[in-house]
Amino acid sequence: SIPVRNTTYKTTCPYCGVGCGVEVTQNDDHTSFSSVKGDKDHPANFGRLCVKGSSLAATLGREGRLLEPTIYGAKATWDEALTLIADKIRTTIENEGPGGLGFYLSGQMLTEDYYVANKLAKGFLGTANVDTNSRLCMASAVVAQKRAFGSDTVPCSYDDIDHAECIIMVGWNAAWTHPIVYQRIAAAKQRRPELKVIVIDPRKTATCDLADLHLAIKPGSDAHVFNYLLWQTERADKLDRDYINAHVNGVESALEAARISSSQCQTLLATGLSQAQLDQLVATWLSCEKTLTFYSQGVNQSSSGVDKGNAIINCHLVTGRIGKEGAGPFSITGQPNAMGGREVGGLANQLAAHMDFATPGAIETVQRFWQAPAMATENGLKAVDMFQAVEAGQIKVLWIMATNPLVSLPDSHQVRRALKKCELVIVSDCYAGTDTATLADVLLPATTWSEKDGTVTNSERCISRQRGILPPPGEVRHDWWAICEVAKRLGFQKAFSYEHPHEIFVEHAALSAFENNGQRDFNIGMMSQLTRQEYDQLSPIQWPVTQDQPYGTKRMFVDGKFFTPDQKARCLPILPKIPFISTSSDFPFVLNTGRVRDQWHTMTRTGRAPILNQHTDRPYVAISPADANALKIQEGQLLRLKSPVGQACLPAKITADQTPGNLFVPIHWNDQNTNHSVVSRLIPQVVDALSGQPESKHASVAIEPQ
Ligand code: SF4
Repeated sequence: SIPVRNTTYKTTCPYCGVGCGVEVTQNDDHTSFSSVKGDKDHPANFGRLCVKGSSLAATLGREGRLLEPTIYGAKATWDEALTLIADKIRTTIENEGPGGLGFYLSGQMLTEDYYVANKLAKGFLGTANVDTNSRLCMASAVVAQKRAFGSDTVPCSYDDIDHAECIIMVGWNAAWTHPIVYQRIAAAKQRRPELKVIVIDPRKTATCDLADLHLAIKPGSDAHVFNYLLWQTERADKLDRDYINAHVNGVESALEAARISSSQCQTLLATGLSQAQLDQLVATWLSCEKTLTFYSQGVNQSSSGVDKGNAIINCHLVTGRIGKEGAGPFSITGQPNAMGGREVGGLANQLAAHMDFATPGAIETVQRFWQAPAMATENGLKAVDMFQAVEAGQIKVLWIMATNPLVSLPDSHQVRRALKKCELVIVSDCYAGTDTATLADVLLPATTWSEKDGTVTNSERCISRQRGILPPPGEVRHDWWAICEVAKRLGFQKAFSYEHPHEIFVEHAALSAFENNGQRDFNIGMMSQLTRQEYDQLSPIQWPVTQDQPYGTKRMFVDGKFFTPDQKARCLPILPKIPFISTSSDFPFVLNTGRVRDQWHTMTRTGRAPILNQHTDRPYVAISPADANALKIQEGQLLRLKSPVGQACLPAKITADQTPGNLFVPIHWNDQNTNHSVVSRLIPQVVDALSGQPESKHASVAIEPQ
């Protein structure tokens, strides 16, 4: 887009899944912003921003940017870099087949970037080895929703907060991770003190300030809590039999599993809660028809994250608390566009536009739409498996975009070994010198927030524009452009001849509605008619966008019809599992990980804004006073944490927010800003068998005070 003097633009915050609208005003130099404010018209935030969003201008500038392509560390032209990539892809397919290729994408990418990457890999190169760091974020919720609803659909809207009688937050430190949604809940509580707020979290987080009831469960015991709730709902004769008969299958087997796993002492033992706490939870649940249950990474990042999600959804289905104002199970995504990646099919177990490889006729449908010469026909490798395949020599070419897996994936030693072994590692990033970039063979300079132009989808299914406002510096280019240029060098000029993200978006929208008679859950077919001007001016809108719902859809499943063959939702029988890794005498502490309030992921952006370092300026390991006393640990003392896969050194932070036996370490710090504190070194590559999501909330470690 063409910068115009002193013009104010509406765009979207690039950080968390709240997806706040932002208004920016350019400085006269056209390379920076004079102001960054919340967009009063955006339904996600109505003008509010948290400190990360309001500090966005401080993260911009050329310092530290990757400004030109490099090949093996030497400056190169785009043509040299793209031709090398295309040649290597071609020879790899000839010698190894398409399985020799891998694409590791990111919830930071725009939907348009995701779409072309997915199209190239799955339609033109013949591989479904396309996965994303969203695998670390909400993959378990995706599978849970698909099992229950027949589709990966979040039923609720933020608007439901204002109607709920009870809000339950599970494994979600909203106050720090999604501050604007938290503020909305806090405002609702202030307006209506009778609104009940329950937090289920092993830690006493900042979110607990709002809670009428905080249930500090034993780590990993979430499914026990919700099975108990299910059982008690049945015992209290509060099942909504009319709703169940009309709209839900599988209830009896789910109840049977709940009965088996929920005898009184079983639940008390498994969760560590008192009977009084459980009674209060049950009483509140039974008395509040309009209950909204948010769940996030504390549920998803688990070796049984899918089951935990279904245990939550079961409770809502048997009480008919879904598709109604103020009620529903609400999966909150961590990233700005984790949802957009799902919409295009940018996960290894998806094909495209919410279709799976197993969806009858889907491969042929997508092939017809794309006119694709080499369709992938089966699931590819999910994130952890993909990096293991790289280390095993099966994947020879790995293209990483907008993510820093050397810091964020579990067992970073394995990730390092994999990248060193790979024949060609391509990294597209906006910053030079990230941990992962140091191991790249080819570095491609990518646009960042304020330069990127396209769409993102937030946690309530709202599609918003991120607008390209500032001119990209140096040789910086959009990810979608780089992908298309490689595609053209491989002979696919016609299918990748886009000149603007608008063309990509309308094609993506058309695919969502192609040959499905409006039946697909994610359907924005009406948006395929958008002109370039309408796309540029697009206001936030919640999918689906169909002929019946041309202005978007606030709430799903209002009519009780789901995306299963018989249109009924499914309850799943859940037998709670303990975390895969147990503590032992060698590794006696449970290690939990998560975010701090003012940093984002591996700090490549937020680390640049001094104001964002004020809240928490260094990594730490949070430990209970009882454990600190027992080990004679002082505040700030350096501790070496050892797990079966690695070590990290961190200063102690002694806090009663931790229960004895449990530790917490933030995820953000990396070797570029603090040596030896990368927490992913300690996390083994244990994943949920159904979702492939790593169990980043439950490792076992030993402490060696230094
Ligand atoms: Fe950005 Fe999330 Fe903060 Fe909103 S709550 S301003 S989306 S970081």
